[in-house]
Amino acid sequence: MQRKPRVAVIGAGIGGVAAAGALRKLGMEVAVYERAPDLGEVGAGLQIGPNGVKVLRALGLEDTLQGLAFEPTAIVSVNWDSASLRYREPLKAMARQQFAAPYITAHRADLHRLLRETVPDQVMVLEARCTGVASFENHAVASFADGTQVEADLIVGADGIRSIVRESLFGAAPARFTEQTGWRAILPIELVPTRVGPDKSVQIERSEYVGWIGPNGHVICYPIRGGELYNMFVGRVSPEWAEESWTAPSTRADMLAAFAGWNDALLEMLSKVEHVFKWGIYDRDPLSHWTSGRVTLLGDAAHPMMPTLAQGASITLEDAYALARNVVRHSDDPRRALRAYEAERIDRARRVQLQARDQFNNNRKVPAPPPLSRDWIFEHDATAEPMALAG
Ligand SMILES: Cc1cc2nc3c(=O)[nH]c(=O)nc-3n(C[C@H](O)[C@H](O)[C@H](O)COP(=O)(O)OP(=O)(O)OC[C@H]3O[C@@H](n4cnc5c(N)ncnc54)[C@H](O)[C@@H]3O)c2cc1C
Repeated sequence: MQRKPRVAVIGAGIGGVAAAGALRKLGMEVAVYERAPDLGEVGAGLQIGPNGVKVLRALGLEDTLQGLAFEPTAIVSVNWDSASLRYREPLKAMARQQFAAPYITAHRADLHRLLRETVPDQVMVLEARCTGVASFENHAVASFADGTQVEADLIVGADGIRSIVRESLFGAAPARFTEQTGWRAILPIELVPTRVGPDKSVQIERSEYVGWIGPNGHVICYPIRGGELYNMFVGRVSPEWAEESWTAPSTRADMLAAFAGWNDALLEMLSKVEHVFKWGIYDRDPLSHWTSGRVTLLGDAAHPMMPTLAQGASITLEDAYALARNVVRHSDDPRRALRAYEAERIDRARRVQLQARDQFNNNRKVPAPPPLSRDWIFEHDATAEPMALAG
């Protein structure tokens, strides 16, 4: 192939826009197709480990992200009822020193906006719901709900946890409901209590990442947006079915009913939230392939994982960088580029997916064992081999 490959990315979430931005930075021709009519302020907080921040650094976005996000000073774990301290460990200083990059917490919308600014509006096609893909000898085709088709040299399925591209390539992947429901909510930081426990003897700083750990649930809290907002993931084990969705609304009453008997200060804080979203957590086995011919997968489409390691966004950012690097390196042979991308990424992503499952199972043990080490995940630098501009 003499000319540069044209890449069609399906899905303008975190992975789709990161991949499109990285590919464009390297001089590739990219178009992004997103089913949503707009890309507004959706979602709540997410975590970016040092491994994810290294990718943002290589894309030139780390400094701007610092202003939009937050770096929790410490990780604190307290008991669900008494708020007694289980442990407190430094995070901010430790991450920078041990992993050469910060551990960051951000509103998904802020990270998304930052990545989106690397992709011009003209290459973004909204209200384009992909219904299937096909790979041929010399091109690939994506079909859309309005009957249109798009031809490209390469197609990247970055269409999230319930990926149509994945289904089109490899069939429906069975998803098992884990009987855990997570509520997601955000509070202004000034509503967060700093003294908790029966005699208010336990001090929690608003700059800390706090886990309230109970026998059948946990509440994970951290500041986002420069410390203005406090994000809460409120997870409870319950056989009651819940939809796997980022946007399914719930109510404060529904969330509070699941936490009867938990610490008063925690419940008081939860009773102040205005908007609550409910998310059923599902588990899927790792895929044995991501690629078929000229089509591949990236992000949650490739490796849907449980949230217990908080690595979904970071591993996705690593994918985006590795994809761009391989597409440019093998720009004369798109199939080879996708094979090289998959070979570089699939074992690491599988290992993280499986550890997220192990951590999920550990969280259900009473008493919960200490968290599994994420050091090997944080140490990784997907950008150690730099990208080169296409010739
Ligand atoms: C609305 C929303 C809110 C979220 N909120 C949070 C949050 O608060 N905390 C958190 O940790 N994670 C959240 N996530 C998930 C998080 O962004 C991902 O787990 C992670 O960053 C991996 O990114 P991804 O690009 O693989 O998937 P996503 O970021 O989920 O992006 C997938 C994109 O593909 C689009 N899409 C799906 N199907 C099609 C189709 N058939 N045709 C075209 N486009 C399609 C989706 O609309 C979406 O924009 C959210 C995702 C979404 C979509």
